[in-house]
Amino acid sequence: MEFDEALRRRLIGSVAQRVIDHAEELTALDQAIGDGDHGINMKRGFAAVLESLDSIAAEPLPKALHAVGMTLVMKVGGASGPLYGTLFMQLGKTLPEAPTRSVAAEAFATAIAAVKARGKSDVGAKTLLDVLVPVQAALRDGAADPAQVADDAAAATVPMQASRGRASFLGARSVGHVDPGARSAALMLRAACEVLGG
Ligand code: ADP
Ligand code: MG
Repeated sequence: MEFDEALRRRLIGSVAQRVIDHAEELTALDQAIGDGDHGINMKRGFAAVLESLDSIAAEPLPKALHAVGMTLVMKVGGASGPLYGTLFMQLGKTLPEAPTRSVAAEAFATAIAAVKARGKSDVGAKTLLDVLVPVQAALRDGAADPAQVADDAAAATVPMQASRGRASFLGARSVGHVDPGARSAALMLRAACEVLGG
């Protein structure tokens, strides 16, 4: 797929705008099982991405994604900032300028491994990894609707008990809520899928 400047702008701009539009929802989720800042954190980070969108989208895809990651590390804060920052920076290091779907899935797997290492975490801990990992598998396997996989995976965090992040402090009381990071990951992935056509 040819990621020209217009497509880079639409891709990064849509992901950023989607997160910003859902900031209150993300904050409400974090109020239930965290400290209520996830929407605020993510909105601050992606607002900074939008502010720099001209210069970010002017770069080839790998550099553009790396720049998004750097911005998120600097601006989001919390647990999620370094984790999403790692995801985007690693994607930027691994992706070629015009990846096919299977090459993108491979790069996504490498980036997820970096997030796992950074968060000392894995699937089943009720985190954003519980969305990223199944969506990577869906991309790898050529699934028809990765965005639906993402939404279903976020919903599937409801019965989980958190064992990483602030929600883990709640123990069994973390059960019964969508994980905020899982929800933000699903929002970002759906926005990306809409621009890239699955
Ligand atoms: P904080 O928890 O520091 O307030 P945020 O509210 O911005 O940070 O982000 C919370 C989200 O970060 C959680 O919902 C979870 O998805 C994710 N998260 C927290 N810790 C980890 C971890 N160790 N590994 C993966 N994801 C994590
Ligand atoms: Mg929080």
